[in-house]
Amino acid sequence: MTDELEALLELYRHDGAIREQLLKIEGLQRRRASLAEAIAREYEEFSSKKKAFEELQRHSREKSREVDDLDAQIRADTEKLRTGLLSYKEMEALRTRVEHARARIDQLEDEALALITQVEEQAPLIRAAEQEFLKWKAKIEQDIAEIDAELTRYTAELERLKQERAARASAVDPGLLQRYEELRARYEDPLVPVEHGVCTGCKLRVSEITAERVRHEIVACENCSRLLYVK
Ligand SMILES: [Zn+2]
Repeated sequence: MTDELEALLELYRHDGAIREQLLKIEGLQRRRASLAEAIAREYEEFSSKKKAFEELQRHSREKSREVDDLDAQIRADTEKLRTGLLSYKEMEALRTRVEHARARIDQLEDEALALITQVEEQAPLIRAAEQEFLKWKAKIEQDIAEIDAELTRYTAELERLKQERAARASAVDPGLLQRYEELRARYEDPLVPVEHGVCTGCKLRVSEITAERVRHEIVACENCSRLLYVK
């Protein structure tokens, strides 16, 4: 194997290592993004449950206050009926108001009680859901932290490989390097072996002249232009 080919193969293998490192990093970044999305989604789901519960609590408090207010009104009216100096007409109006309020308060109390029961039933469920969400979230965040640590290592390794590449590229003949770089923009495998007279890049048979020349030097495939060599 010529030194020229040796240097180019080294560079090619190095580029493969860089690509592999990039793929690993991209894979980790995708995984990280999907975990972060999962947290956001679960949080959204839990938040809407919690919001609905808080709405129920508010509704329950309002209903209880309504009962209290009506109860206070009944007491005040009853007291007024007992002690107040009122005209007959005013007394009648007040009595009617108290009657209506008494009829209404029973229904209100039932509603308030039903709401309190609902709140009491749901409170432990919401607490449990929150605990579960927080526990799950802590675990996912731990996974993300591990991915971040890995990403830091992989990125440092990628930087090292990129720096090393310059040295490897400078070992290759400039004309050959330029052709290699042009082909690299088109193919993942710009440099391929010829096996049994066939270019392993495009799978087509090379000419006899090419098959002969490739024994001594790096030549281009006349079909796909990839650089050819023999093992
Ligand atoms: Zn070819």
